[in-house]
Amino acid sequence: MSKLKVSYISYPLTLKHTFHLAHGKRNSTPCVLLKIEYANLISYGEASLPPYLKENPGSVIAYFESIDWNVFSESAPLDFLDYLNKQEKINYPGMAAIDMAIFDLAGKLSNTPCHEILNVESKITPLLSYTITYEEDESILLEKINDAKEFKQLKLKLGTKHDKHFIDFILKNTDKPFFADANQGWKSLHEAVYMCEFLRERKCLFIEQPFSKKAYQLSYKLKQRNILPVFADESITNFSDLNKYYFCFDGVNIKLMKCGGIKNAIKMISFARKSNLKIMMGCMTETSCGIAAASQIAPLCDFADLDGSHLISNNPFKEVILNDGRIILQKKSGVGIERTRIPTPEGF
Ligand code: MG
Repeated sequence: MSKLKVSYISYPLTLKHTFHLAHGKRNSTPCVLLKIEYANLISYGEASLPPYLKENPGSVIAYFESIDWNVFSESAPLDFLDYLNKQEKINYPGMAAIDMAIFDLAGKLSNTPCHEILNVESKITPLLSYTITYEEDESILLEKINDAKEFKQLKLKLGTKHDKHFIDFILKNTDKPFFADANQGWKSLHEAVYMCEFLRERKCLFIEQPFSKKAYQLSYKLKQRNILPVFADESITNFSDLNKYYFCFDGVNIKLMKCGGIKNAIKMISFARKSNLKIMMGCMTETSCGIAAASQIAPLCDFADLDGSHLISNNPFKEVILNDGRIILQKKSGVGIERTRIPTPEGF
């Protein structure tokens, strides 16, 4: 009999600033926190669920309830992830929550940091980027630039009619390197070429998700123009998408919530490397639990877009440690995360 004790709660994440995106604005992100207790050890995971995903807190909790937790074995804890991948119905954010909790538990059982279990040789994570979204009120934009002071690279979220003004306002007030995320906002190749040329003149590093997620042909054509490297986010969510559509992009934003966790992300990283794609480890707005899990494999990537926990005001875990604009991998066993406050309802 398994001795895993499993509990979960819905825990909406409150955003410090309203997100203004191509597909609307929002002030919070639904999230389900997972706790796994085993042999006096406690491990956590999370499923962060921005509203454009097809999964939601109800479907994640139903997924957790469909899992046969008795399959877990202390002698081979990571085999549990093979069991998850073999299930007929996969809920990727729910799977990511379990994957990170199981990796954390495996690390704690063997008293080893997760990145060591995974044989990640370099301990150096890429420079972390900080996300800035548009605000009409310039004093709030200045506040956001100030919020980014610990960070050495910026991600500018585009998709409103004020894009050019927004970019120039930011660049007037900071000289940090930046890339841009169009969040599926551009409608034509003409518009994308015009905006990419505008961005290239301003030394933008690359453009993320220019077109709607299924517009692979348009992405391929924009890539062929060679103006800026074109990265996929929503267009490539998991290994199957990457395998089919890698040639339409120069890079890919891999997120645990999209692909189902660390194990699947590593498979994508290895395929992307062989296909000469640049790799960004990304995140949703998440607690530092998800960020600490993703940072375990960030040294395998070229970019780290892992600022999700800095964008929320109710993080129930201790923040990851930054030094000189990079996340520092901890020597602690597991993913190295600690709770700081108890979310309601009681008992979690
Ligand atoms: Mg994106």
